[in-house]
Amino acid sequence: MITSKPACMLNSRETQHISSLIAQAFLYSIPCNSSGVTCFGRTVTIGIEGQSVSDSSVFPGLLVDVPEMLHPADVERLGSGPFRVVLFNVSLSGDISEVGDVTLEIHRGVDPERDLLKQLLKLGEQVVKEKVRLFACQKVVHPILQHYLRKHGVVVIERLGLALIEPFVQITGAQAVASVCSLVPTEAYGMVKEICFRSCGSRELLQILPSKDTAVSTMVLCHRNETMLEELKMTCQRAEHVLRLTLREPYALLGGGCTETLLATHITHMNESSAATTAAALCVSQSEFLMAVEAFCSSLQSVALSLEHDGQDCLIDLTYAHRWVPDIYSKTCGCGLVEDRSNLEKTPLNTAYHTFSPVSLKNSPDNQPRILDSFSAKLNALNVAVEMANFVLDVKYIIKDIN
Ligand SMILES: [Zn+2]
Repeated sequence: MITSKPACMLNSRETQHISSLIAQAFLYSIPCNSSGVTCFGRTVTIGIEGQSVSDSSVFPGLLVDVPEMLHPADVERLGSGPFRVVLFNVSLSGDISEVGDVTLEIHRGVDPERDLLKQLLKLGEQVVKEKVRLFACQKVVHPILQHYLRKHGVVVIERLGLALIEPFVQITGAQAVASVCSLVPTEAYGMVKEICFRSCGSRELLQILPSKDTAVSTMVLCHRNETMLEELKMTCQRAEHVLRLTLREPYALLGGGCTETLLATHITHMNESSAATTAAALCVSQSEFLMAVEAFCSSLQSVALSLEHDGQDCLIDLTYAHRWVPDIYSKTCGCGLVEDRSNLEKTPLNTAYHTFSPVSLKNSPDNQPRILDSFSAKLNALNVAVEMANFVLDVKYIIKDIN
């Protein structure tokens, strides 16, 4: 899957590295000690631009930017965990306009901002008293409150951002506090096992490790520029999704275009004998049915053809119906299951050839396909394609791109 995305601009060593990271992130996302219905965990992706792909890595837990005033010595002073955590999803900036949707009654001679700061410091006192060691906020934290907390040995993470709130809640078990007007309820506190510094390439990040098995990990992806990085992020997320689909429905198909050529050949051959009965069962004429079959099979062949990016021709062998490229160095078919031999007859894929029943090959320990496709992903793609084709048939006006 990674090699089929040329816009990621990876060399073979980088492809290998990224593939093993995806497998690692996927394994982290499977909870270890669960019984009954199990849900996958989460992989948070962070992108770092301007660094080598080989600096990319996967870490258990959550990685966040190191807060400005935090030094490794502050983290060391915390000692060993687990630590109590509190999380706010409202602004703690002390700015009255950011309090939220509440009605304020302001009396003459009262400074609302000063009162709000007093309230924030009261919260600060409470969390220090209740031995909180990690204080996180989705938005800004007032500098005086930050100073107070740091003085009492509390690590402050501000501007966590909305996207990280859910994974943060997942790994800490904390409930996000949405008010500054009341004290923090006991059940809102969460726990973390450890907080430590991690370097990834030239960047320092803060790693938060969960105290329970939460199956959350962070994938740090590095690439030379923004466009390549975005493509790489997208590809990794899709690849992990395909792995999850495969675990849910553990079936795989031959990859490299061989499933498409095999299926097209098999359907064409099967219809030689059964077209009349199938057409009758579907209440269509035999010629209509054959036209539909031909369109479907040629679409499958087009998919197999489109796998060749540099306009190279594709071949199909007339024994096993696997897909080949006319390359003297390639000794096997697209999926790697069939080995080439001199008497194996092949023909270009986009030309007419006689119908035949493909000879099936048995998997044996020393004869395994090298490339597999996810069954669920392929089935889904076929369903979407057929639905789309049905939809297009109903469209009255078509805009054609003549460029
Ligand atoms: Zn093959």
